[in-house]
Amino acid sequence: MEGLTNKEFSREKHIKYFLRCLQCLPIPYSSLDTSRMTVLFFCLSGLDLLNALERIKNEHQNIINWIYSLQILPKNDESNTTKCGFRGSPFLGSKYQTEGSFSVSELYESSHIAMTYTALCSLIILGDDLSRVNRNAIINGIKFLQKEDGSFYSTQDKNENDMRFLYCACCISYILQDWNGLDKTSAVNYIRMSMSYDYGLSQGPQLEAHGGSTYCGVASLILMDKLEECFNEKEIKFLKRWCLKRQKSGFQGRPNKPVDTCYSFWVGASLKMLDFLKYSNFESNNEFIISTQDTIVGGFSKWPDVHPDVMHSYLGLCGLSLMQLYNLSPLFPALNISERAYQHLRKIQTE
Ligand SMILES: [Zn+2]
Repeated sequence: MEGLTNKEFSREKHIKYFLRCLQCLPIPYSSLDTSRMTVLFFCLSGLDLLNALERIKNEHQNIINWIYSLQILPKNDESNTTKCGFRGSPFLGSKYQTEGSFSVSELYESSHIAMTYTALCSLIILGDDLSRVNRNAIINGIKFLQKEDGSFYSTQDKNENDMRFLYCACCISYILQDWNGLDKTSAVNYIRMSMSYDYGLSQGPQLEAHGGSTYCGVASLILMDKLEECFNEKEIKFLKRWCLKRQKSGFQGRPNKPVDTCYSFWVGASLKMLDFLKYSNFESNNEFIISTQDTIVGGFSKWPDVHPDVMHSYLGLCGLSLMQLYNLSPLFPALNISERAYQHLRKIQTE
């Protein structure tokens, strides 16, 4: 372990990187960018892991208000909740409001399950008490998104369904302590059916196992407290082995693929939840992640000598935090927020 932390870690540069990314998220709206909520989450949680949230403490309330402004509430009829939850960015400007016989903005006036998950996490990170969250509307909203096979759709359009959105539904249910919007039996069965022949987890039955879907599946089972019900001892043993075998220097997402910073989180966090991360090689994982940090502008990229992006910057930090390096705040891997934020959630859950 000695020597591990002697590598140059550009803490201050990383803080500045996330602060800059936050400034690039104009609170007044300009474009149809549905992922703004996710970028906000990466920045806030990144600053949290770096113990630097106080740098934006004057902005906390503004950001909380902005997040709540993206909550879709039931209209007229409280029971009509199919669109409820959070959307990823503000409505289109008024000049796009009408086209033909329908309002274009209405088309986008739909929540996205991943945005609801990242919105709730961001509120928790900022110390909000979730008192302005319409819990019933959100739970009924996700109930509408579960497919018979147990997986979840991302939006009310029901275009795509897979393990990622099942994971988001588990996080939302766990945070709100209300599992009425999710049928656990079919959800567990979907995860079970998604274990591939090599014992990794895929996005759905008969697909190739992948680090990202493995994380989503394992974390969902942890949040539902169903890991041992879903898989037997042998399956869990080989699942751990599948994850451990993804380490080359850092981690790869699939066999025969190059290592990539984000898998130090996706696979690393899976191993952590399975209590197996301790058998990985911290030194070479650390070395790879550090090789992808940008020491000039801050942040991390997927590969060395590539431009950093906000997702890999955040997940790179998560990978380092899982190994408890550089005084980073510890991570609560199942929700992908800091242990500190998780403790705040526990506190408001019991109030
Ligand atoms: Zn990646």
